[in-house]
Amino acid sequence: MNSLSLRSPAKVNLDLRILGRYPDGYHRLLTLFHRISVCDSLRLVARREALVIHCRHPAVPCDERNIMAKAYRLLKKCFPELPGVDVYLKKVIPVAAGLGGGSGNAAAFLLGMKKLFRLKINRSELMKLGGRLGADVPFFLTETTQALGTCRGDKIKSLQCHAKKWFVLIVSDRGLSTSDVYRKLSRHLPAVSLTKLERTVRIATHFLDSGMLVEADKILKNDLEKPAFQLQPAIQNTVRKAVDLGVPLVRMSGSGPTVFAVFPSLKEARAFARRIKHALKQKVIVCHSY
Ligand code: ATP
Repeated sequence: MNSLSLRSPAKVNLDLRILGRYPDGYHRLLTLFHRISVCDSLRLVARREALVIHCRHPAVPCDERNIMAKAYRLLKKCFPELPGVDVYLKKVIPVAAGLGGGSGNAAAFLLGMKKLFRLKINRSELMKLGGRLGADVPFFLTETTQALGTCRGDKIKSLQCHAKKWFVLIVSDRGLSTSDVYRKLSRHLPAVSLTKLERTVRIATHFLDSGMLVEADKILKNDLEKPAFQLQPAIQNTVRKAVDLGVPLVRMSGSGPTVFAVFPSLKEARAFARRIKHALKQKVIVCHSY
């Protein structure tokens, strides 16, 4: 085998709570990751040496700034004899949108490299490497539909997803920098018990599986919405518009600016997508749990 094709899915954060800060400045959080069917495509082709990234998307760097180049450098440290690889990336996931596109690419790249070159690296070593690349990478490495992330978001517990959900993503044409959103976050974080919060979020997943979206809406929260709304008031307007149209569960994903609404069926998702597209003239994507 000298080449491999892979799908690299996106995620939404159904819930995201900031619980505190580590001495190194990183935030301690709890999040409910949910993998969705919006996917980039990756093709890895073995070459004698060096990594060469091919991608036509104007916002994705093909040089050492690409997160896959960082992943290759880390792998090379563990496996000095590692051959080179051409990576052909077809970007479908909106960039800098809170959908974890880069993190997902890094995870797919690591899994693909392990398979292509039969690397002797176990799951926990791979998770450690992933955690060094970005807090969302370990979730994508687990290849599960739904998981709780704690600590920096990199300690993963898979959670069963018993019912496929449908999502309408409302995509902004303005990106939002994750670090700007975190900088704007209030310094006064309320004291919350992680155990209690974890239990509550697990209950919300049962509501979601049963199609009880109004009940899930009462529990699920994204603490980054407030600072993101301050930076880009248009995000809050999008949420308000969706609520006005009668959507029971609508949230911002990650650090934004993408807003998503959840539906139990494709029919309901499509009907909402048509109405919100007409109202806001923004790009929308209909997708499902993956
Ligand atoms: P997250 O939800 O994990 O915070 P995001 O979805 O908001 O991430 P990305 O799409 O990963 O953000 O892009 C963030 C930045 O990373 C962009 O400015 C982009 O230029 C850079 N980047 C580096 N490598 C990649 C990649 N493979 N795909 C997309 N963006 C990349």
